[in-house]
Amino acid sequence: MRIKLQELRMAEENTIYITDKIQVPDGEKVIDVFPDLTIRLIGEEVVVYGEIKFSRILTCGKCLEKFESEFEMEIDTIYLPLESYKREVEYEEHKNAYNPNSPTNQLLESEQVNINELIRENVVVGTPSYPRCSDECTGVDGVAKYENNGMDPRWQKLLDITSKNQEVE
Ligand SMILES: [Zn+2]
Repeated sequence: MRIKLQELRMAEENTIYITDKIQVPDGEKVIDVFPDLTIRLIGEEVVVYGEIKFSRILTCGKCLEKFESEFEMEIDTIYLPLESYKREVEYEEHKNAYNPNSPTNQLLESEQVNINELIRENVVVGTPSYPRCSDECTGVDGVAKYENNGMDPRWQKLLDITSKNQEVE
């Protein structure tokens, strides 16, 4: 879904609300995302804020069981035209400080805002890269010990199986 500046200029109070389900790609599958977003044109800038909800099937990094995890994320983003975007970036670099509470700045390209891409980025950033099915998960014997060596434990497990087979032969 792309929102054109022209649509925002025409909209009441220069605002468009997005509450319909949006699907974003996740490998070969799609994720259903339920947005509650406000998109508002203020001067030359487009402000996007609100929240998104989605659930994903994840594989626990410890016990390797699949589990469903629900996510709720706040979105607070400002799309700036090229000139102000450059100014902001220079200013941020000059300040040399990152404030996680301040909205993310994005470049407004081709007079439109790509909502699907914004949502996809947030889904990726919001999903843990090493998920756990629960805090109490004790994992599978022989898997948890590889947790911190940087290798995906599933691959390590496969390697172990392979090397065991070779010993037998
Ligand atoms: Zn687990």
